[in-house]
Amino acid sequence: MTVKTRFAPSPTGYLHIGGARTALYSWLVARKQGGEFALRVEDTDRERSTQEAVDIILEAMEWLGLDYDEGPVFQTDRMERYGEVINQLLEQGDAYYCYCSRETLDQMREQAMANKQKPRYDGRCRSRHDPEPGVDPVVRFKNPLMGDVVIDDLVRGRVVISNEELDDLIIARSDGTPTYNLTVVVDDLDMGMTHVIRGDDHLNNTPRQINILAALGAKPPVYGHVPMILGGDGKRLSKRHGAVNVLQYRDQGVLPQALLNYLVRLGWSHGDQEMFTLEEMIELFDMGDVNRSASTFNEEKLLWLNHQTIINSAPTLLLEPVRPYLDKAGVDVAEGPDLGAVIEIQKERCKTLVELAEACRLFYGELGEYQPKAAKKGFKGDAATILATLKARLTAIAEGNWTAANLHDLLQQLVDDLEVGFGQVGQPLRVALTGGAAAPGLDITMELLGRECVLTRIDGALNWLAD
Ligand code: GLU
Repeated sequence: MTVKTRFAPSPTGYLHIGGARTALYSWLVARKQGGEFALRVEDTDRERSTQEAVDIILEAMEWLGLDYDEGPVFQTDRMERYGEVINQLLEQGDAYYCYCSRETLDQMREQAMANKQKPRYDGRCRSRHDPEPGVDPVVRFKNPLMGDVVIDDLVRGRVVISNEELDDLIIARSDGTPTYNLTVVVDDLDMGMTHVIRGDDHLNNTPRQINILAALGAKPPVYGHVPMILGGDGKRLSKRHGAVNVLQYRDQGVLPQALLNYLVRLGWSHGDQEMFTLEEMIELFDMGDVNRSASTFNEEKLLWLNHQTIINSAPTLLLEPVRPYLDKAGVDVAEGPDLGAVIEIQKERCKTLVELAEACRLFYGELGEYQPKAAKKGFKGDAATILATLKARLTAIAEGNWTAANLHDLLQQLVDDLEVGFGQVGQPLRVALTGGAAAPGLDITMELLGRECVLTRIDGALNWLAD
């Protein structure tokens, strides 16, 4: 049997961090078994579903690299099929029309509350045969009256629910449209889902769905209900806690693999290991090791992981990811040093791709204004004389000898000859070359900037000092 899982978001907003984790876990279960993963858009709530939200989900899935073998399947394309199944259940006597008015249902609820019982539909239309004139009925599923529903949940273990606790669920509204529990059951059945991995906010629905599946003569899939994600205050993670929108993290310069790495660890662990490649996640992930209790989202940890991922990535692997951020920042790398070499020396100090793009800026095009504080500190005392001497010596180095090693020796020689501390040469030079930005070693910075650019920037500093 081929494993098949799905992610089934409702397109009512952005893709939430919690949704992305559910999608990842579901994707991992499929990929680990060499199975299939499907994307199903649960858009039957037409008032709350938007095309924009659909686009955002698709974009986020693509950015995360959670590829699907089937879909996106849209539930609104399957309305006819839901209608068929509703009719089938009616015909075989597993569903019935219910004509109860809102007042009747309200009374039922009040009565139950007065008796300190859980509000539930009492099934009074179960054996009704005559329609109520002028009333469009809903359709209810005839839930079994006795016995238990047993769920061997991959995360929770065995969960047993007595049918006495369940009432007859509405599967079609009075306008004929199907409800969530019906559509999910029909889709999971038709699409051949072997595993349903989803948030534990759906655990209440599961016994109902299993009963409907049984009425349709189907074996239920294996379920795995993933616990919630909480904010730092112990409340369910929401906008109040900061960014919870997956694409917002993309815009902040988080690498998709870093976000996936963070999400996989949020609720699952493998010893003390913090960093996982995608291959390792696929190999090691196991729903049976997912925590039963809720996890707490920690943005700092995510950014730490992002930083580590950037540091550990070969520069060539960052070339493509950083490109959109360079474009956005208006950094044109067409002319100038090799981008990979710049990334190599700058990545250590960059927590995000936004910062990395910004750190590349200094190697391409004109240098902007000097940072006032840095200029004040760097361009003081003998700065002008020192820079002029330095320039004379640098001019003597031929293009072919313009290497970090030679430049390093030249700086050292200058410091020795002038009998000054390194800072007295290094500080004005750093400001001259970078405007004051944090930068790696001056020798490698000079090599990458190139002879012409270094001399021009020193000239610029001398002009500034002369003013
Ligand atoms: N559409 C549901 C949601 O977004 C998920 C349903 C399911 O996974 O069964 O919460």
